[in-house]
Amino acid sequence: MKLRFAPSPTGFLHVGGARTAIFNLLHARRHGGTMLLRIEDTDVERSRQRHAEQIISSLQWLGVEWDEGPVYQSDRLERYRERVEELVASGKAYRCYCTVEELEAERAAAEKAGKQWHYSGRCRAIEGDPGEPHVIRFAVSSGTIEFHDLIRGDVQFEGDLIDDFVLLRSDRNPTYHLSVVVDDIDMEITHVARGDDHLSNTPKHVLLFRAFGAAVPSFAHLPLILGSDKKRLSKRTGATSAEEYREMGIVPDALFNFLTLLGWSPGENREIFTRDDSAQWFDLSHVNKAPAVFDPEKLLWMNGQYLMRMSAEQIHPHLLPFLGDGPKTLDDLRTIIDLHKMRARTLREIAEQMAIYFVDDDAIGYDADVVKQHIKGDDLGARLAALHDALASTEPFDVATSEAALRKVAEEQGVSAAKLIHPLRLALTGKGASPPIFDVAVVLGKERSLRRLKELIERLPALG
Ligand code: GLU
Repeated sequence: MKLRFAPSPTGFLHVGGARTAIFNLLHARRHGGTMLLRIEDTDVERSRQRHAEQIISSLQWLGVEWDEGPVYQSDRLERYRERVEELVASGKAYRCYCTVEELEAERAAAEKAGKQWHYSGRCRAIEGDPGEPHVIRFAVSSGTIEFHDLIRGDVQFEGDLIDDFVLLRSDRNPTYHLSVVVDDIDMEITHVARGDDHLSNTPKHVLLFRAFGAAVPSFAHLPLILGSDKKRLSKRTGATSAEEYREMGIVPDALFNFLTLLGWSPGENREIFTRDDSAQWFDLSHVNKAPAVFDPEKLLWMNGQYLMRMSAEQIHPHLLPFLGDGPKTLDDLRTIIDLHKMRARTLREIAEQMAIYFVDDDAIGYDADVVKQHIKGDDLGARLAALHDALASTEPFDVATSEAALRKVAEEQGVSAAKLIHPLRLALTGKGASPPIFDVAVVLGKERSLRRLKELIERLPALG
């Protein structure tokens, strides 16, 4: 068994393309087959080397490990020309000398008459001069074209409705139909899984496989991915490329897991599972026909679940690109990562939350709402001073001892612990929400925590 992922390098790797790549990979892994990566860059104007590199880098980041390739179609142009001549020689394809202008005029006339235009096939009967500009067309015969789709079952198309399509353009470059079939034959592809926007191309490909006397592979047309507006996923409703999710701080395992669930489910309500699990369960024939909906909120949730389960060691390399100035080694960051991974949905959020440890102690910006809510009462200064003294004499300074010290002060002052905890959180982080505040205090250390508390006490008159 051999599958392939065959992107056209016209832009970033779309999440739909990423899912196609993943489904190909999983089916290959499940059945002990291999997967080939083929870059379909024959459309020279729209294809760019940098897009190909970008797609490859996104696939690597995502952990889609192909076994063979990348093969570039632009390296194989002679092969397509050679094979199309075989079809001309056997009468299955012919040279067409109609000019673009002639065909355009025909099309306009048909449109005016309210009819759909079809190429008449008149060059089938013409013996032209191959030295003159021409394209090569496939001679489509009438009759029903049937093929089996692993997802949609038996599919039929009427040959009469298919024009004699172009295989080789007048500039001698192959069309997609020619190059894809020549390659699938040469590369011994047994299963073609691709987006169902290609469904209407498949009967043409079936005809070509037969014309070349080759076995027709199995097909699987993957359902469309819709955005939250139930329309085809597009920029309107959010990010569409794997790269954008990477920049947002999604970890590759989470995106991989999330994409496997677009049109497939392992059953038993399983949502979070490893690649190895999915490679054991997946089969193209289990993919749904119905379109799948891409829910960005669910992706964020899933990413948060991944972060929670990952160790600081696992998170650290992914986090590095998000860190600004400040310490970067795993040893510096281990405790902080462990603390903040529990309450962040993205790597970017972790990095933002971490900033509180790296600002100067006298440069904390206080959240205005928190100030309004919790910085009040004439005796607040005295209470915080008592807290400061209690923490100063806490030894050792750990989560349990610092919490006990705060609770004791609250009791002595006859207030609830919350009346001290909120101002302490403001002093240490500037915010109204953070990981458990005594954990934060321990990460900061006794000295810096005290300095921050003192800073708040000094700024109280200006805040109140
Ligand atoms: N190159 C085509 C695309 O990017 C896919 C071709 C195929 O899988 O057959 O849409």
